[in-house]
Amino acid sequence: MLDAEKLLSDRWRHVVTKGDGTAVLPECGRPTVPGLVSERACAFYGARWMLAAIPDVIHLVHGPAGCAYFGSIVRRKSYRVFSTQLEERDIVFGAGEKLYRAVLEAVATDPGARAVLVYATCSAGLIGDDLDGICKRAARAVGRPVVPVNSPGFCGYSQAAGHDIAAGVLLEHFIGTGKAQEPIANGVNLLGEFDVMGDLREIERLLQQLGLRILCAFSGKAATTAMADAHRARLNIVHCRRTGQRLADAMQERFGTPQLKVSFFGFEETASALRSIGKFFGSAGVEEIVERGRREVEGAAPFLKKLAGKRVALFFGASRMGTMARAFAELGMEVVMIGSQFGCLEDYRDAGARVRAGTVLIDDPPEKELEEFIRKHMPHLFVGGTKEKYLATKLGVPFLVFPQETSCFAGFRGFVNLAREVAGLVGAPVWRLAGRLPEI
Ligand code: SF4
Repeated sequence: MLDAEKLLSDRWRHVVTKGDGTAVLPECGRPTVPGLVSERACAFYGARWMLAAIPDVIHLVHGPAGCAYFGSIVRRKSYRVFSTQLEERDIVFGAGEKLYRAVLEAVATDPGARAVLVYATCSAGLIGDDLDGICKRAARAVGRPVVPVNSPGFCGYSQAAGHDIAAGVLLEHFIGTGKAQEPIANGVNLLGEFDVMGDLREIERLLQQLGLRILCAFSGKAATTAMADAHRARLNIVHCRRTGQRLADAMQERFGTPQLKVSFFGFEETASALRSIGKFFGSAGVEEIVERGRREVEGAAPFLKKLAGKRVALFFGASRMGTMARAFAELGMEVVMIGSQFGCLEDYRDAGARVRAGTVLIDDPPEKELEEFIRKHMPHLFVGGTKEKYLATKLGVPFLVFPQETSCFAGFRGFVNLAREVAGLVGAPVWRLAGRLPEI
């Protein structure tokens, strides 16, 4: 547990220890306590997180160059974005015409693009440009959809607001717009899967063994043509609840597409995912696939020996907490802290059920609290996003960035990669040289 006296009075409800009798779940789903610097991102970035990987559209950021740069790197991958590069003059006199001209110029630069996504940032939201009207006018001029993404950074207290706005854009303008209506018997969609370092390919390989075909993955495999046909899938597989659930619920209501929430991280989660999906489709041979997977993960045995009993702290965006806690437990590690930037009660309930008594559950921690936790508990590994990387490293704690940067972590083969990478990080000789800082 963190030192309660050192937490700001409004923060103590956001930090609980499983099994200590003080509270079951941390308070969550709220704006950051004023005065604290959160690890969260803005709504604009949340929209970029969802939409950046769509390949055949133009991404045009209506805002200053800084927002465009921020939004061009998503999951540590660099994407091409266009920008209106708003300056002081535009803020004073308005930038509607500049945006209109920017759409025309962007389409002239990339004439094969099927649509243009125009993202509103804080500045665009504040000066009140009529984004919808300008996009409609520009669409007539360029002869293709020009779609406003009304995601100024201030329109929510975390990137989650941007996820929802982006999901609305996909539903309103892209999903199910194809002419063909008949269902594709073996077609599935993956919702909340962004193809980090080949995760999607590994999931696809496993689903192909069940005789299934991924029509569309939002948004790791989400060309406009794939999205147009997504309503023909027999099943929506939700891989990340935070970025996929809203799409799944809306598609169930609109097209009657059933949904299954699964995870492909860790052996047991992957096996259970294949069993649930196989049962839905009445697929034969699921146990053979799982058995093959069991033999594949035996390759992780040498790494598991090195990891047995090592302590790990996990910090994610939101809904991966529970399934990743299970995957790290399968590595033989003890999860001592689990937290998120903007998890909801369901995320924490799921995570809390999968960790041992004594594990700290922490919601939206500022860097100072993470530092206090690391100094006090000195885990053997900290798993988090880029923002936490240098904090952990400076305190002498090995760090695994997630979403990962090196190899696929999904499926059976991904589990072996995860074990190899974690064992390499935890056992790296450099940490013996790192000075460990005293407790505060
Ligand atoms: S908070 Fe506003 S100004 Fe900052 S990156 Fe997000 S959209 Fe741009």
